[in-house]
Order: sequence, then structure tokens, then C-alpha cells
Amino acid sequence: MHGLAGRATAQAVPLLDIKRIYLEPAAAELARGQEILSQWPDAEHIEVASHWNIPELSGDEGNVGRWVRIKTEALVLGIKKSLTARPNGRSADFIAPSTANGCAMACAYCYVPRRKGYSNPITAFANIDQITGYLERHIRRQGAKPAPNQCDSAAWVYDIGENSDCSVDALISANVADLVRLFRDQPTAKASFATKYVNPDLLDLDPRGRTRIRFSLMPERMAKLVDIRTSPIAHRIAAIDHFVEAGYEVQVNFSPVIVTDGWLQDWAELLQQLDDGIHDMAKQQLAAEVIFLTHNEQLHEVNLGWHPRAEEVLWRPDLQEFKTSQNGQRNVRYRSFDKRRYQHQFEALVYETLPYCPIRYAF
Ligand code: SF4
Repeated sequence: MHGLAGRATAQAVPLLDIKRIYLEPAAAELARGQEILSQWPDAEHIEVASHWNIPELSGDEGNVGRWVRIKTEALVLGIKKSLTARPNGRSADFIAPSTANGCAMACAYCYVPRRKGYSNPITAFANIDQITGYLERHIRRQGAKPAPNQCDSAAWVYDIGENSDCSVDALISANVADLVRLFRDQPTAKASFATKYVNPDLLDLDPRGRTRIRFSLMPERMAKLVDIRTSPIAHRIAAIDHFVEAGYEVQVNFSPVIVTDGWLQDWAELLQQLDDGIHDMAKQQLAAEVIFLTHNEQLHEVNLGWHPRAEEVLWRPDLQEFKTSQNGQRNVRYRSFDKRRYQHQFEALVYETLPYCPIRYAF
């Protein structure tokens, strides 16, 4: 039994209690689809033409109680149609085709719901064999990585969790286990995903150093305000040693960094908590990403309807500037001149408190 087994996150509402499964018939016919359906034999099945277009799951924009119920009780089973590994070059070399999208958690700043309606429950893709086959061929085509970069010194890094949280996806299906198994045997490539949830089941997957888990961390007080339904920060830190021992490469994402009065002091305490909470083996392989908050006007409007206290820290026109995104949305980020100063302050704090922890990527 792993030391983490007794520390599963206590939730007033369970993270998942699947009562309805919306399914594309072709997905239900596949072996993975059948496995997922058999996990919840009492769930109602509702056939849908496409996992993208299920209006009743989009959720009422202002009613978070309804989103949370949908996130808890609904699951979508679909087929991932377009298989591409998108070049990235920042956190990872490539974004792998998703094996899931959506999330059972509900962070107030999350960009994921902007794509698929506000409640955005988990969609699991059943055509895992096509996805892993595509990835294997893609990895083979790259050959050896010619030179180190900020993603990794030797391996091509594939982000496998851009649109979901893989630790929670692994509660639903063996897709994440299959990906860990695939990368375990790839000498030139590695999987990587960020997570805000501690799932002890992942400890049994024997990743042999070829899967990088990035635990997202922020000061606990802020996490309680904005990281809704996630594992407590102390649990995420406590998990790090266990995941290193189990064969994962474990890194941390300091993200999002939210600037408030006293933010640097709060982060100093968090970094100290991290330093105190992990052993040398974890420290020797640690690296970090630092991502300052970006927010979005539309999400701000929605959040005002259910979580105005979060908006007091996320929406700061006195500190932020607008930037129109490629898809025409109005995003905000800290003013560039000030952000550079914040970044320098933050990086100095990291190097002082965690001198063994390089910052791989700061944004
Ligand atoms: S855990 Fe990640 S994907 Fe899920 S709501 Fe939070 S930020 Fe979004």
C-alpha cells in the first residue's frame, strides 16, 4: 500500500459520481468504450451525434452549482477525430492529441471551459489505439533530439494533458496508463502533464522516468479561493516524493502567479513549504515552470455571477492590460513593464529558496 492511499482528497461532493454517459455510438463499440461503460453499469446512456455539441452540458453560465453537478454526474464518451501533434516549444516540444478533454475540477481562472461550454465535464476518447499508434509513429519520425532545449535536455517532450487533468482522467479510463506505458519504452521521448489532483493509482504504472508530472502549486490561501475542487496544496507537495520513488520525473508549475498585496511573502512561504516537504531525491531532479496569470473578459463576467471574491484577485485593471487573442477574445495580463519586474522578483525568490531548482520556462 502506498503512503498516499490514506490521503485521498476529502470532498464534500465527490469528484465523480457518474449517472449519465453521453456517447457517440462508434465510441461505445470500441474496447475502451466498453471498459468505461462497464465501470458505471447503472449510468443512463444517451446517444449523441458528436461529443462537441451537447447543449444540455454547456451549463448555465452563472450557475456554478449546476456546473459542479454536471461535472460530477456526466461523462462523455467520444472519438478523437483529428490526430495531430502540434509543435509547442515552450513547456513541451509537442502537444499530443488529447485522450480526454474537459475537467471535473473548476478553477476560477481556467481557460478550458472557454472552449466547450462552462460546465465542461470530462470527455474520454475511446480510440486510444489510434492515438497511441499515431504518437508512436510521430516519435519515430523525429529520431533523436538534436540539441537540448528548455523542454528537456535530451528527450522530445509531448504534453499529454493540454485540455484536461490526466490524474483525474485516470480515474475514468486506462488511457493515461496506456500513454505512460507507451512512453516507458521510448528512449527519445517523454510524456508530460500538469496536474492539480493527487491520484495514488498512478503510482503503480512504472513510468521508468519517461513521464513527467508537473504538480501545479500556489500559496494555499490563494488556492482555497481559486483552485476549486482540486487536491489541497499540502497533499500535492506531500505526493512529490512518492511519485519520484515510483519512477516519475516530478517537476512543479508555479502557476498561475497572481499578484496581490503580499504576494511575494505568500510565495516565499509556499517555496519554503516545498523545500521542507521533499527529500533530496526529489530535489535533485526538480525543475519549475512559472506562469503569471492571464485572465479573460468573458470569463470575468461569468465568474462575477458565482465567485465574485475570486474576481477581486483575478481581475485587476489597475495592474493589467488587455491583449486581444488570436480568436478575438479580450484577455488581460499584467502590464508588461511591471510583469518583467514581478518575474525577476519571483525568479530571485525561487533561486534563493530552492537553489537546486532550475526554472525551465517562465511566462
Ligand atoms: S484542474 Fe486544470 S483543467 Fe481542471 S479546472 Fe483547474 S485549470 Fe482547468
